[in-house]
Amino acid sequence: MSPQPAQSYPHALAPLQTGPALLRNRFVMGSMHTRLDMGPDPIARQAAFYAERARGEAALILTGGFSPNEAGLLEPGGPRLDDPAEAAALTPIVEAVHREGGLICAQILHSGRNARQKNCVGPSDIRSPINRHTPRALEPNEILQTIEDFAQAARNACNAGFDGVEIMGSEGYLINQFTTLRCNNRTDEWGGSAENRHRLPVEIVRRVRDVCGSNCLLVYRISAADLVEGGATGDEITSLAQAIEAAGADILNTGIGWHEARVPTIAYMVPRAAWRTAAARVKQAVTIPVIASNRINTPELAEDIIASGDADLVSMARPMLADPHFALKAREGRADDINTCIACNQACLDYIFSGHVATCLVNPRACRETEFHDNPADKPDRVAVVGGGAAGMACAAEAARLKHTVTLFEAADRLGGQLNLARAAPGKVEFDQTLRYYRRQLDKNGVDLRMGTRPSASDLADNFDRIVIATGVSPRIPAIPGVDHPSVATYAQILSGQKPAGENVVIIGAGGIGYDVAEFLINENGRTPEKQAFFETWSVDPALASPGALTGDPLADHPVRRKIVMMQRKSTKPGAGLGTTTGWILRNSLRKAGVTTLAGVTYERIDDDGVHVKVDGEPRTIAADTVILCAGQESERALHDELRSANVRVSIIGGAKEAAELDALRAIDEGVRLAQEF
Ligand code: NAP
Ligand code: SF4
Repeated sequence: MSPQPAQSYPHALAPLQTGPALLRNRFVMGSMHTRLDMGPDPIARQAAFYAERARGEAALILTGGFSPNEAGLLEPGGPRLDDPAEAAALTPIVEAVHREGGLICAQILHSGRNARQKNCVGPSDIRSPINRHTPRALEPNEILQTIEDFAQAARNACNAGFDGVEIMGSEGYLINQFTTLRCNNRTDEWGGSAENRHRLPVEIVRRVRDVCGSNCLLVYRISAADLVEGGATGDEITSLAQAIEAAGADILNTGIGWHEARVPTIAYMVPRAAWRTAAARVKQAVTIPVIASNRINTPELAEDIIASGDADLVSMARPMLADPHFALKAREGRADDINTCIACNQACLDYIFSGHVATCLVNPRACRETEFHDNPADKPDRVAVVGGGAAGMACAAEAARLKHTVTLFEAADRLGGQLNLARAAPGKVEFDQTLRYYRRQLDKNGVDLRMGTRPSASDLADNFDRIVIATGVSPRIPAIPGVDHPSVATYAQILSGQKPAGENVVIIGAGGIGYDVAEFLINENGRTPEKQAFFETWSVDPALASPGALTGDPLADHPVRRKIVMMQRKSTKPGAGLGTTTGWILRNSLRKAGVTTLAGVTYERIDDDGVHVKVDGEPRTIAADTVILCAGQESERALHDELRSANVRVSIIGGAKEAAELDALRAIDEGVRLAQEF
């Protein structure tokens, strides 16, 4: 049945003919290297992963990057398309997508000086700040060979059945390195003037078109804002866009920021659709369709961007990891049923960078499609889930989806548990979407919700076949003399607004929550900065037109009025345990704001003068009108222990099971996996 545009998103759901392809709507699944290709059973798992997104009506899927040759590999053993036989082995993935009515293009990515290998190459021998290896400058004949390698890789992809290719020209990879003075100081025809620096991408597009013909959908990903010193100007970007169109591209996708950029580009602290101006500038310069990208995570936002003429399509890589049926649900008018990407990066990018196969914090099935089932229970059990935080909601919703009869008990008057506190940190208001999603799933699957209710052990034992304890955690109160002083507050009291913070704050504990609380305090009590304030903080040119779209050093100080000192007992670097792709942002954000951190601290006492500590044996007093305890949590296990001592069979998940390393990622994963076993 052909898709019927829903009234709410007429622009985002309108089909689009471009080049050889008829796209069924404007929601593109952007490229993301999931590492599925490097794990066990790579073809079957990638086929299942992409087919699920095609079934969910993604208009076009762009795969993770394949290198066109050995030198372009991001790391040894990475995916490549230079061998026709290896490319042909990908055909089952393409067929799985086509069976679901989808279109799929292979991305071709040469990493250039970013390659984590000794023999990396680039336009010049200028080392990347994120690579310890210095590249060797490509000889002119090697540049010509690289163009041929792109063309051959594209031919191999088309022969394997792919509908086309995306040429990766952004994010600071080889092509992008050639286009900017930052990495290209050549004096031959491949360097110097903008026209010379643009020659490599233009010749690649031209040659791919020559070799693959008009049936190949040719997408070019242009860097629409480099966000690095020495990056392209707005004028250079528009002239490159025009040259790429003239060379034969069908679609221009936009990339924002190089991997080495010191400006956040996609994490939760970036305002939604912050970069749409960059896509709009490219769109004004060309007649082919343009894709907007980064921090676009709802159908409403996509509709607004397309309706306003800023772009023709939107790229949603992480949002389609979070919900493979994003486009289908938008079409069916079920936006409230979409599991929204909260831009945490925790289970996608952080996993990928630490060598794991990606998944998703809000959707544990992502990239694990073959590990989960949809089989309804033969004989429904009566399931009691106690605790309506992330773990409990996930377990109850999944058990009910699999047709068990589920009752969810929550002691408070609202669902969410720790998510209600986490949402107070700047940008983490995205957790509201997770709460909305779960409320919808619980309702839709008929879960009996008992709010403000603490069931007794005997009620549970007498009335249910299965009991799941998800009673969560409570903030740890460390045994420091004076911890009951009036200046002391728990993080829960601060984040919930129960207690206001003063001007001189000491934070005890420098874990994830300590950082969140500090961010909350430097941003006017948790307000997510608007686009203008965000750009100012990180020295971004609001017009995104100056070289690299910067006005100065992104890491320059940006002090705030409130004085904050954050402490930990360990002598390790504070914030070392934060996520790879968000930790650097949080650490820099606090440093820019003038927050100081102290490690190797021994707590002596808290009194009217503040917090008395010893740092490396030296006594110090840190003045404070507010002392905030962010010293971790303790599991709430009383009900579990009571049931166990009465020999009642019971399962325990989330923070109640293990308070250390508690996070929503583990909580949701445990909840869903447990329900799958019922
Ligand atoms: P956490 O990361 O374990 O940090 C607890 C902090 O309290 C540590 O700095 C610890 O440092 C200190 N501490 C522990 N016991 C103490 C005691 N008895 N007295 C004084 N200080 C003590 O826990 P969290 O910050 O509560 O975060 C909970 C979970 O949520 C973590 O798994 C975290 O990863 C996750 N989370 C992550 C983020 C993020 O990555 N952005 C944000 C929020 C939450 P010392 O022991 O060295 O003093
Ligand atoms: Fe989005 Fe977080 Fe899931 Fe990544 S892990 S797709 S950022 S919700």
